[in-house]
Amino acid sequence: MHVKILLNGSNGRMGRAIAEAAPACGCEISAACDVGSNPADCISDCDVAVDFSFREATPALAELCAKNGKPLVIGTTGHTPEQRAQILECAKSVPIVWAGNYSLGVNLLNRLTKIAASILDNSYDVEIVEMHHRHKKDAPSGTAQKLKEIVCAERGAGEESVVYGRHGQAGERPAGEIGVHALRGGSVVGDHTVVFAADGERLELSHKAADRKVFAQGALRAAKWLAASDRKPGVYGMEEVLFG
Ligand code: NAD
Repeated sequence: MHVKILLNGSNGRMGRAIAEAAPACGCEISAACDVGSNPADCISDCDVAVDFSFREATPALAELCAKNGKPLVIGTTGHTPEQRAQILECAKSVPIVWAGNYSLGVNLLNRLTKIAASILDNSYDVEIVEMHHRHKKDAPSGTAQKLKEIVCAERGAGEESVVYGRHGQAGERPAGEIGVHALRGGSVVGDHTVVFAADGERLELSHKAADRKVFAQGALRAAKWLAASDRKPGVYGMEEVLFG
């Protein structure tokens, strides 16, 4: 099946990776939009819209998709609670695949983290560490947020258990605390590690992305999944696309 894509953020690092991966994935970029374009001019000609731009752009694109009955793949991260609410409203009208990370490896990391967090109790201290290139605008990454949510859900913990970085007289680490740390530098595409550290042993689950094509191929797979059949309106994760 040949899928026509409206690509928002086409001049960016991910936009370029998606355009490059599209032909081999059976997709065509029918419209390339970036700052200064008006997606409303070309939305009618696409099967699916794909957004890898900036958080402020996503709600308007989601509204446009809802108005025109077009499914949407969201790769952009760092949305505010208000922006998230606006996007969720649009998902009442059209199906949206929304994932902080489209690589197969990270989605498996999510699964493995869930298993580990369900087995290892609070005597295993959890620290989530991510590293990205120096141009990344939001922190911690959407993937690190998702890993934190998975651990919190398994442990019945809330946001009050989470610490973002430490400095100064932070004091002893209380049981049940979940640490999240964002490193920035160089051209790192995306590294994530979840550490479960107890007295006498440490388990580390790690994923390292070396090429943006893994996210691009995953996002295009999500676009094809949306276009393949009549998905009901709602928000879908990459787990549903990959693992059914
Ligand atoms: P980038 O800065 O290289 O590219 C962003 C592009 O969006 C730029 O060309 C910019 O001009 C454009 N843009 C900004 N505002 C816009 C607007 N209002 N309308 C249209 N275009 C606009 O960033 P990137 O590295 O390509 O990442 C883009 C987003 O994707 C970020 O939020 C990043 O965190 C996210 N990302 C997600 C995944 C994933 O798998 N979900 C993977 C990598 C990056």
